[in-house]
Amino acid sequence: MDNLKEFSEEEIVEMIRNGKISAADLTDSGICPTCFNRSHDNVLYGDNSSKTLYEDEDIECFLVGNPRSPGHTAISTKKHYKDMMEIDDEICRKIFLFSQRMMCLLKEVYSSKSVYLCTMCDGPMNHFHVQLIPRYDYEKRGSKNFVKPRLDYVEDKEKVKVLRKEIISKINNSN
Ligand SMILES: [Zn+2]
Repeated sequence: MDNLKEFSEEEIVEMIRNGKISAADLTDSGICPTCFNRSHDNVLYGDNSSKTLYEDEDIECFLVGNPRSPGHTAISTKKHYKDMMEIDDEICRKIFLFSQRMMCLLKEVYSSKSVYLCTMCDGPMNHFHVQLIPRYDYEKRGSKNFVKPRLDYVEDKEKVKVLRKEIISKINNSN
């Protein structure tokens, strides 16, 4: 499926609803899945507001819906950037300072042994993003943590509440 632009947006929405196409198919057709999702009532990713931890004019931070470990978090730019090589210094400083604070917070709140950071945006349409993946003491150190099998998201309202509160008090005020 590489010519999605031949279809109307309504037809694309229908194909997503029927499970005929995925986010990757949109990307391959030069359509940004994140923007498409946002402008079409979350058709692609569902309502993720319960996973959102922080949002401002530049970035958003949310718990990943198919985490590689509990607490797997993504921090994404609102604007399109193909990858890290395209971001400006201001966004670079902001997102990596935020990530550094967020790693400390995740380690504390999830009692993880460590938190790993990776970014691997690729493809024509992207919102530059960083992923933070906690490693727990029952897991070995090393790069295999970047490709741990995906888990089902288990909502922990208490942790979400604490994270949201701490982000506002610790991270946002220190920027
Ligand atoms: Zn977009």
